[in-house]
Amino acid sequence: MAHGYNGKILDVDLTAGTHEIKQPGERWYRTYFGGSGIIAETLVAEDISGVDPLGPDNVLIFACSVVTGAPISGFNRYSVGAKSALTGGFAETEAAGYWGPELKFAGYDGIIIRGAAKKPVYLWISDDQVEIRDGSDLWGLDNWQTLGKLQEITGEKKVRVASIGPAGEKLIPYACLQNDLEHFNGRTGMGAIMGSKNLKAIAVRGTGKLSFADPDKVKEIGKWHRERIKEHPPNIGLSKFGTPALMEGVNASGFLPTRNFKEGQFEGADKLSAGPYHEIIFHSRGTCWSCSVACKRRVELDDPDYPLDKNLGGCEYEALAALGSMCAIDNLPAVAHGTQLCNLLGLDVVSVGAVIAFAMECFENGILTEEDTDGRSLRYGDAEAMVWLIKQIAAREGIGEVLSLGVKKAAEKIGRGAERYAFHIKGQELAFHDGRGKTGMGLGFALSPTGADHVETPHDVAFQGDGISKLFPMGLLDPVDPVKTDAAKVRFFCIGQKAWGINNLLGLCNFCSVPIHALTFTKLVEAVQAITGWETSLYEIVLGVERANVMARVFNNRCGFTPDDDTVIRRWFEKMPAGPLKGLRFDPDKFRGWIELYYEMSGWDKDGRPTKGKLVELGLDWLQEAETGEAR
Ligand code: SF4
Repeated sequence: MAHGYNGKILDVDLTAGTHEIKQPGERWYRTYFGGSGIIAETLVAEDISGVDPLGPDNVLIFACSVVTGAPISGFNRYSVGAKSALTGGFAETEAAGYWGPELKFAGYDGIIIRGAAKKPVYLWISDDQVEIRDGSDLWGLDNWQTLGKLQEITGEKKVRVASIGPAGEKLIPYACLQNDLEHFNGRTGMGAIMGSKNLKAIAVRGTGKLSFADPDKVKEIGKWHRERIKEHPPNIGLSKFGTPALMEGVNASGFLPTRNFKEGQFEGADKLSAGPYHEIIFHSRGTCWSCSVACKRRVELDDPDYPLDKNLGGCEYEALAALGSMCAIDNLPAVAHGTQLCNLLGLDVVSVGAVIAFAMECFENGILTEEDTDGRSLRYGDAEAMVWLIKQIAAREGIGEVLSLGVKKAAEKIGRGAERYAFHIKGQELAFHDGRGKTGMGLGFALSPTGADHVETPHDVAFQGDGISKLFPMGLLDPVDPVKTDAAKVRFFCIGQKAWGINNLLGLCNFCSVPIHALTFTKLVEAVQAITGWETSLYEIVLGVERANVMARVFNNRCGFTPDDDTVIRRWFEKMPAGPLKGLRFDPDKFRGWIELYYEMSGWDKDGRPTKGKLVELGLDWLQEAETGEAR
């Protein structure tokens, strides 16, 4: 009997209007574990690299892990993946909240969505009842209206809904999915893929219980973790102030992306920090399934220009940087209002902030003029312009149509040298961490299979001094210098990426797991053992992480990515102009060498292709023939 997982994947064909249940067996679960592993395996095994991302042949995958839904803080994430319309390559994006555990309680570990419905539909899953239902009445609704309507239709107040907003319906390549307006599968544009399938939402109600191999031990670890969270400084900070607490420190350290990555400090950062946040807009704390950290913030404000509704989600660090420092806007209510608009409309606030900052820099440099913007000025610091642009982008109107393509394609369309200000990696806009101040994270941005993505890479700054002790079990014994790039830093990234990747593989929240927060590797392994009954180890789990990364790499190679795509943005090859990091940059002549060193450490050849030996080591023999051209 399976413990921790249900052994069932729901496979839905929207073209045919049918579904079936697949039961892949214990060996498959123990090889791919969950999230990143299940998504990568499905994408390479089905070999959809050549399909049109917005066509019916793309495959959209929702994946929990073998431990999702266990009553331990942070064991609640699920991943969504497909071929991305934004990057044209591997996509995977994670969200916390309650939706993933609810799917497990309904009896499924994941969902594969194929084909496309002829007209709008939603998927209704209530334990073993699975229906593709007419969603015409939902089409055009924002995410809040969709949630309310589905509660009404299903008669279930406790229904958990993963939905897209109008942005996903309009196939904006950085449209996201959300659940409960507080939790987002934000990056890589999975809202557009869902929209292309005419799938508005997946509503789930599960009343079952998961079986655990050693339920008392699971309970004991959950209690131990809750107690440790209460005493662990980074978790205490997150509980009290949420991620807005990061604003001040990141700015003081000089790596807060400001004015489209031109600077590393924002003069208005103090107005966006945790103090004013809690004085002016804070309403209450929110949490996710079984999490005692409760880092989520709800905001409320009765303001005629920038009203805030407690039901529409708070404003995390990334949103504060996206619509704040990146656009040089220090008006906190406006930034939070812009974030709530993104939540309602279903736009990834990270890409939105990057796109608006790009437009503002183009305007400041005369590349965009009022002729392009319906007579509107788009200067840095203009909060009204920021809010107007979000609405224009979501409606794909005027300049919003061009910007809705993302910075890479928007720059191609605008021409006139706009590409100098279009900052992306593999087509995806960057999250807000300046690689000049965290060079390991900079390498991660360059090498992430999803394009620049901050939740796939370790943050160097956490592993200075005694901080490195959290990585001792991975064999990293020497403290990290955040701003140095050398062979030791490449080693740190290569190994640290595997440690960090556990979170995406097992669906653990980065804010209460290892290696930065309260969980330890020892307790994590004990938890996986107690949940599944497997006599597993850190080694076996890390092999799963590497397997997922290698499969994602193979997928991207098939999609046509080359080593030239493993790079960072122009601005990081230029010296930081001021602040604590003044003068720092990546050396453009040495950078390629660091990437090639990573390839070597990873068992990849000079073209970034995993070698036959690496594929065999990871038990990916079934990929060997296709990737190396050699017979098995
Ligand atoms: S730490 Fe925050 S995001 Fe993570 S599970 Fe807890 S409440 Fe959710």
